[in-house]
Amino acid sequence: MRHSLLLAAVACLCATAPLGPALHAQRRGAPLEITLATDAPAERATAERLRALLKTHDVDRWLYTRRVVIDERTTPFSHPVLTLAPRLPREGAAVGMDSSAVAAGDRRLLADFLHEQFHWLEDGNPQFRAAMQAFRAQYPDAPAGGPTGAQDLESTYRHLLVCDMELQVLTELFGAQEAREELAARRYYTWIYGRVLDDPKVREIVREHGFLLTGSGPSRRGITAPPG
Ligand SMILES: [Zn+2]
Repeated sequence: MRHSLLLAAVACLCATAPLGPALHAQRRGAPLEITLATDAPAERATAERLRALLKTHDVDRWLYTRRVVIDERTTPFSHPVLTLAPRLPREGAAVGMDSSAVAAGDRRLLADFLHEQFHWLEDGNPQFRAAMQAFRAQYPDAPAGGPTGAQDLESTYRHLLVCDMELQVLTELFGAQEAREELAARRYYTWIYGRVLDDPKVREIVREHGFLLTGSGPSRRGITAPPG
């Protein structure tokens, strides 16, 4: 379940993460391995911007895979290799753009990158599946399909967790107002982001299952990578 043509233009249609190997143990500070799918100027510019963003924003603690593909022909997805797409309307010509548009593009690129990272937390992690079950119990009538839900019902429950983690880290990086504005403006997963932004029950389930990515405390257990 990778892409549907209907949503390919707007949505992250992240693949179902296979329940296989345990979380990759990540070396703190290790460089990204970025591959360009077509070597198009927009892909080169996006890779350059991503590297620059990682120097100015401390996100290393939230990286669960360091292999990245930039592909201007697709929308972002997580597996088998985390893949990003250019986000600026005139990627490669950022110099001539309004600075606020560049900032918004940067924020979006970083949000995409982190969102896809969080899908990697599902791999071999029973807590992730347990959280999805809790969301299923809480929202038995959740939508499937765009633009309100994800690709299918299971993916909708998956994205309640992933999108809440996205809100957590964007809040830490950019502040609550910018984070909320960023997610409220999305034109896909609208029911999911609506719950994440406005229903405290989402964060409660996220906390109960150990997926608070910011702050401290015992709730971080669900995101701890194995040693080594
Ligand atoms: Zn996703």
